[in-house]
Amino acid sequence: MLLASRVALVTGASRGIGRAIALELAAQGAAVAVNFVRSREGAEATVSAIEARGGRALAVGADVGRRGEAQELVERVLDAFGQLDILVNNAGITRDGLLVRMRDDDWHAVLDTDLSGVFYCTRAAARPMIRQRFGRIINVTSVAGLTGNPGQANYAAAKAGVIGFTKAVARELASRNVTCNAVAPGLIETDMTIGLAEENRQRLANVIPLGRLGRPEDVAGAVAFLASPAADYITGQVLCVDGGMVM
Ligand code: NAP
Repeated sequence: MLLASRVALVTGASRGIGRAIALELAAQGAAVAVNFVRSREGAEATVSAIEARGGRALAVGADVGRRGEAQELVERVLDAFGQLDILVNNAGITRDGLLVRMRDDDWHAVLDTDLSGVFYCTRAAARPMIRQRFGRIINVTSVAGLTGNPGQANYAAAKAGVIGFTKAVARELASRNVTCNAVAPGLIETDMTIGLAEENRQRLANVIPLGRLGRPEDVAGAVAFLASPAADYITGQVLCVDGGMVM
């Protein structure tokens, strides 16, 4: 129970990687705010799973890409739990397409959620963290932000932006004992990758040194580590959770 008495907010925790992160942080003793934008049922299922194991959790709807909603999300967590110690910026979307055909809408939707959402939530959470002289901010980026990926100019730009943002925030808040790190998943089995054709899946598994796609729990373990006292002296880092795909 490394996170007993901590309060965490996980954005996009109604399914996929965010759900696994919420469950893992709760298993380590944290009270968890489970954010969603559309899937209230999914978020409530995450909350029920945490409560069934004796934990404390709350589902909170908000579109992180809208400034006002992100601010309100953090305020609701503070109202409910009285503090906010761990922020996991996990919510994300893709709108893939080749550059020459990419629509403005697809560019802006991805930048709004995947990059501006991280900014809005982090800015809102930073104040209480600075005040209490403790905070752990963990941003979920992607290996696409390190290597680029054809058909994902919007997503790669947003995720690379998250990496620069992580390092700037790490430098800015370090003196207040607030750390900021990123995890960069490779290919993880979630709704985001469910559309991959079987032959692509196999081809990709063949170039992953560990020989398989990742599971949401693989990412959750890395996030829980960065939130734990074991990572107290780590800030500004990007930890790839990708089976060795990028090294
Ligand atoms: P997912 O299964 O598609 O789940 C996305 C989650 O984000 C859902 O909970 C969704 O909520 C939430 N969300 C989307 N837009 C939101 C918004 N505007 N405001 C609040 N919540 C929002 O995706 P995933 O695969 O778990 O991905 C989670 C994170 O990991 C993302 O940042 C993604 O870019 C990153 N990542 C994933 C992979 C991968 O292979 N899967 C690889 C690298 C990085 P609703 O259910 O309410 O829609």
